Amino acid sequence: MLSKMNEYMRSNKDNMLSLLAELIEIPSVRGDATPGAPFGEEPKRALDKMLEICENMGLKTACCENVVGSADYAPDGSEVELGILCHLDVVPVEPANWSYPPFKLTEKDGILYGRGVIDDKGPAVAALYAIKCIKDLGIPLKKGVRFIFGTDEENGSGDMEIYMKHEKMPPCVFTPDGSFPVINVEKGMMRSFFKGGYDGGSVRCFHGGSIPNAVPDKAYAEVLVSLDAVNNAIAEDKSGAVFTVEDIGGAVKISADGKSAHASTPEAGINAVTALISLINRLGFEGSQADILKGLEKAFPCGETDAESVGLKAQDKTGATTIVFSIFDMENGECSGVVDVRFPTCLDLKTVEEKERAAFAAAGCELDRFMGDEPHCVDEDSEFVQALLRVYERVEGEKGRCIAIGGGTYVHHIDGGVAFGVERGDTDYHMHGADEFFPVEELLRDAVMFAAAIVEICG
Ligand SMILES: [Zn+2]
Repeated sequence: MLSKMNEYMRSNKDNMLSLLAELIEIPSVRGDATPGAPFGEEPKRALDKMLEICENMGLKTACCENVVGSADYAPDGSEVELGILCHLDVVPVEPANWSYPPFKLTEKDGILYGRGVIDDKGPAVAALYAIKCIKDLGIPLKKGVRFIFGTDEENGSGDMEIYMKHEKMPPCVFTPDGSFPVINVEKGMMRSFFKGGYDGGSVRCFHGGSIPNAVPDKAYAEVLVSLDAVNNAIAEDKSGAVFTVEDIGGAVKISADGKSAHASTPEAGINAVTALISLINRLGFEGSQADILKGLEKAFPCGETDAESVGLKAQDKTGATTIVFSIFDMENGECSGVVDVRFPTCLDLKTVEEKERAAFAAAGCELDRFMGDEPHCVDEDSEFVQALLRVYERVEGEKGRCIAIGGGTYVHHIDGGVAFGVERGDTDYHMHGADEFFPVEELLRDAVMFAAAIVEICG
C-alpha cells in the first residue's frame, strides 16, 4: 500500500505545489482584529482559501468563529477517530534577510523556499493530500479522519480555545508542527517576573537580556569603581563570557558578551547576565544593592542550568529541569527581571512557584507575577503513540522513538495530543527565520507518512 501512496503523491506533486504556492502568497501574519476576523484579515483569508479547497475535494467542512476550519472524511457516517491539526498563520518576515521573495513559493534544486513552507503550510498540504489520497484510491476506513486548520498558533493558540468551546477534539490528535518521530512529552514551563528595591549603591545601572525565553548574550553595567579593580576581577573569571571595559569618566562601563541559546537548552549558551552579576560581586561592594546582587547570584549562579540552587533540580523519564535568568535591569533604586524554568512531570507549577517565590525573597526581591503551563505528557505505550511509531518505522526505514522537549507545541493543551513531524534529525529548516525551506522529497514523504497513519489508526 505504501508504494501506491507514494506513486499517488508523486503524480500529484504539481497539484500539491500549486496549492502550497496559493497559501504562501497569503501573508497570514497576525493582524489587527476586524469584524469577522479576530486575528486579522490575512489569517482569515488563508482559512477561507483552505475551506474552499477542502470543499472542492468533496470533504465535509466546518468553521468555528472564522478562526479554525475543519474538513472531515468519514465514510458511511463513521465516527471521527483521528484529527490532524495544522496552522495556516505564519510569523512576520524581514524581507532584507531573504534570498527569495518570502511570500512567493520558490523551488530551487528540489528545495522549497517561502514563509510557512515548513511551518506549517507545507505540512498542511501534506495532511490534506494524505486524506485525498485515501479517498481517491478508495482505501477503506472503519473510522473517520478530520483535518483541522487553525490561524493563531504563532501567537498563543487562542484559536484552539475557541475551537474547544464549540467542538470536541477527536480521541487521537497529532500535529505535524514539531519533529519526527513522535514528541509525546512537553515539559512544564514557568516564566517569573520579579522586582526589588534598594538604596543607592556602586552600580549606577545594569541592563542585560531582552528575550524572556532565551539565554541572554549581552549585558552591561556602569559601575563606580576603578578600572584596575575591574580588570583584576576579569582576570579571575571562569564564566566563559567575554568582557570589555571602558572608562566613561567617573565610572567604568563593563560589557559582557555570552552566547544565546533557547531557554529549553540553556546548557548550550553562556549567560551574560549571571556572568556580569558574578563579576560585580567579586568587586566587594556592600549595602542593600550589593545584597540583592549577591542574593541573585546565590539563587541563579553563573553556569548553573539545572536549578539546583533554587531547589528545583529534578529528573525523570520526561527529562530534567532547566533554568535561565534571562532578563535583568537595575537602575535608580529599582530592579526587575525574568527567570524561565522548564520542568519535568515529577514537578508541578505550584512547587515551582513556591521555590521561586522563596528564592526571590531570599535575595531581597519579590515574585511580581508569572505565567506557567503544567507539563503535557502522553503515554508512550498508548496504542496511538505506538501506531505512529510503527508507521514512522515503515516509511522511514529506521527505528522510531519518543522524544521529550522543553518547549510547547500546538497540542500542549490538547489531551492525548502529540507532535508527529515534520522536522527530521538536526536539520535547521530556518523556521521563523529567513529563507525558511522544506525539501520537496520530504513534503511528499510526509504526505505518504500521514496517509499511512490514517490507515493504521482509522483503517
Ligand atoms: Zn508552527
